[in-house]
Amino acid sequence: MTFESNLFAGKRALVTGATQGIGAGVANRLASLGARVTATGIDRGDGSLDGAVDVQLADVSKDADVAALIGGFDGLDIVVNCAGIIRRGAEHEIEVFAQVLDVNLTGTMRICSAARPLLAARKGVIVNTASMLSFFGGSLVPGYAASKGGVAQLTKSLALAYAADGIRVNAVAPGWIATPLTQALQDDPVRAGPILQRTALGRWGKPEDVAQAVAFLCAPAAAFITGVILPVDGGYMVS
Ligand code: NAD
Repeated sequence: MTFESNLFAGKRALVTGATQGIGAGVANRLASLGARVTATGIDRGDGSLDGAVDVQLADVSKDADVAALIGGFDGLDIVVNCAGIIRRGAEHEIEVFAQVLDVNLTGTMRICSAARPLLAARKGVIVNTASMLSFFGGSLVPGYAASKGGVAQLTKSLALAYAADGIRVNAVAPGWIATPLTQALQDDPVRAGPILQRTALGRWGKPEDVAQAVAFLCAPAAAFITGVILPVDGGYMVS
């Protein structure tokens, strides 16, 4: 569907935060388009990964984990940063705030920096994961919103910094996607109602919806696109 089935044949891909949810959808999609994919996470996830995807545990907030992970690759064409956490209601505590920043923002930077030489050798591509909260504030999630605002700015900055290496750097900004991360919201009609009302297409997004946009940004069709933050939100931003 939509892409040639061998679009990423011969390509080596890393997707962080990919043992479930959006990252797993991305890893599965890249694999279905011919890439050899390694998915990482801090646990084995919920079983949504296809068998074709290799799984490796690695915590993006730990320098040693990131060094060992990237050191295990001979080459890299595609890096997708999906690792992310949210701590609704607890992020006004400085320790929690700092932890969310360390995973979502600094973790993205750790992976990008470590992968840069391998990506430069193959003129590869990076896709980061921003959010609607890259654009809006979140009273219960100041750390998450700050981290995702930071991911958007980091994406633009690395697009400029890595352009001379031939590396494109973009981000997707998912709207409200049905994953374990949003399970509590999905289960709460008081909070889910307004989300669905504002989402013009009238449904929760699926990890596959985001995966299709990521595949496009990784593809040669996006050869002249770098530094963009692409909403994949069913029209939430514009309503
Ligand atoms: P999820 O909770 O379902 O999955 C998160 C994944 O990240 C898991 O594989 C987990 O193992 C991994 N992870 C968590 N901490 C990690 C760490 N320290 N190091 C490495 N991996 C770690 O979440 P999701 O909904 O699939 O979200 C994926 C990304 O998309 C996150 O960056 C999230 O902020 C972003 N996002 C999600 C939504 C949504 O509606 N679900 C919307 C916008 C953005």
